[in-house]
Amino acid sequence: MQRNELENYLNQLLEISSFKDYCPNGIQVEGRNSIRKIVTGVTASLDLLNAAVAQEADAVIVHHGYFWRGENACITGMKGRRIALLIQHEINLFAYHLPLDCHPELGNNAQLACRLGFIEQDRFGEQNIAVRGKLREAIPLSALSEKIAQTLTREPLIIGDPGQSVKSVAWCTGAAQGYFEAAIAQGVDAYITGEISEQTVHLARESGVAFIAAGHHATERYGVQALGEHLAEKFGIQHQFIDIDNPV
Ligand SMILES: [Zn+2]
Repeated sequence: MQRNELENYLNQLLEISSFKDYCPNGIQVEGRNSIRKIVTGVTASLDLLNAAVAQEADAVIVHHGYFWRGENACITGMKGRRIALLIQHEINLFAYHLPLDCHPELGNNAQLACRLGFIEQDRFGEQNIAVRGKLREAIPLSALSEKIAQTLTREPLIIGDPGQSVKSVAWCTGAAQGYFEAAIAQGVDAYITGEISEQTVHLARESGVAFIAAGHHATERYGVQALGEHLAEKFGIQHQFIDIDNPV
């Protein structure tokens, strides 16, 4: 398929114009016109790009691209090396940040819920990014922790009493510890996100709402992967998800 066709399709599917974001969503680095093979990954790191070159990909689609608000705009250093590699191999880079967190089926939040068996009920927080929902039945926090560790193949950091019962949950993938207060206001038993901060621990202890830091990378693997599978099915192009591990 043609690059423009892919770009228009993705921008509409993910409704990029309805988000205020910290980075440009859509095509970030232009490569060749014809797209036959797509590589997806969480972050457009040099390791991911090298793997995409080895796979002879025509386009890379990521959740974390470049040109974040407040960063040095110059194409130097780490960013310069990454972009040089893309241009040298004529590989297109597409990045979708908040639009990929939020998509009702292919989004990071929806895909994480699928894997953990969470039932979505409502959305909350700035731009309705975070999700409130429930488990099928009440389980101890320790059992939820075990389920997360198995599903994400990463041990979560948990603040809460392992024996406490969890039925209602809220979640938001990535670095969404800033939504914890809003999650507590939703009246849930536990909040699951990727990262944790020092003050989060106190908020969990003093509110009695359990906090689960399941990994920024680990919670954001699934949206872009689902998006790549969707594109392969819809347009008959090749797709490969490449997981470059990140312990955070
Ligand atoms: Zn993220």
